Amino acid sequence: KLSQRLQRIMEQIPAGSKLADIGSDHALLPVAAIQSGTVVRAVAGEVNTGPYEAALKQVAAAGLQNSIQVRKGDGLEVVQPGEVDVITIAGMGGALIASILDRGLDKLEGVQQLVLQPNVGEDILRSWLIEHDWVLVHEQILEEDGKIYEILTAIPAAVSPLAQEELYRPRPLQENVILTRELLIAMGPYLVDRPNAVFHTKWREEIGKLQGIIAQLSRSDLDSAREKADEIRERIQRIEEVLLCLQ
Ligand code: SAM
Repeated sequence: KLSQRLQRIMEQIPAGSKLADIGSDHALLPVAAIQSGTVVRAVAGEVNTGPYEAALKQVAAAGLQNSIQVRKGDGLEVVQPGEVDVITIAGMGGALIASILDRGLDKLEGVQQLVLQPNVGEDILRSWLIEHDWVLVHEQILEEDGKIYEILTAIPAAVSPLAQEELYRPRPLQENVILTRELLIAMGPYLVDRPNAVFHTKWREEIGKLQGIIAQLSRSDLDSAREKADEIRERIQRIEEVLLCLQ
């Protein structure tokens, strides 16, 4: 059975799509997407031999060799320009996903939707999308097996009914509490609109991590460490104010 995380990613793929799933591991997503009838054709890309062979096996076991091509290679080098209209990249850090997209810009022409699930570094990915004219149309946050995941869906700015700037325009939440562009990029413009319990858990945990960093910095006498700790304290305060308003 597909994990809830992969299921939610799959639900973001429009019916009739041609899919490339990059970093496909066991090719669970493309197999389920073909079996459900959502996707008509898929490429499963893997850079590492173990997962690549696991993907080949999985596709063969499902008897789907005609509709899913398993290809070995780095990032988007496994797809031809114009070959697919949806790309999913899931289960890696945001920085790695951004670098895969960066190195495959020519393959993104003609792609209508990106569905990205960074394990960390969501802010890096949102910034990448802004810089490369991809507009977020949907965001999800969910918890499964004690881990929190975010799923970002984006479409090209040229076909987006929503202007990029609208999403990240600073918003006052209360007097003296402003959701800044920086915080919108970190927290997610849709997630802050409908903050669920998982969202609050994630940001409570984030504050805990930041407090851990402050504790480490406080062991140093360096001015730079003190300045950094002050910066982080301010950030925690801004996050806490926002969380209070979003209760
Ligand atoms: N996408 C699946 C999921 O979400 O369940 C698998 C996630 S797994 C944690 C990450 C996979 O990405 C690994 O199988 C790894 O080999 C692959 N990977 C990492 N860097 C890659 C790259 N540059 N190109 C293709 N695959 C990559």
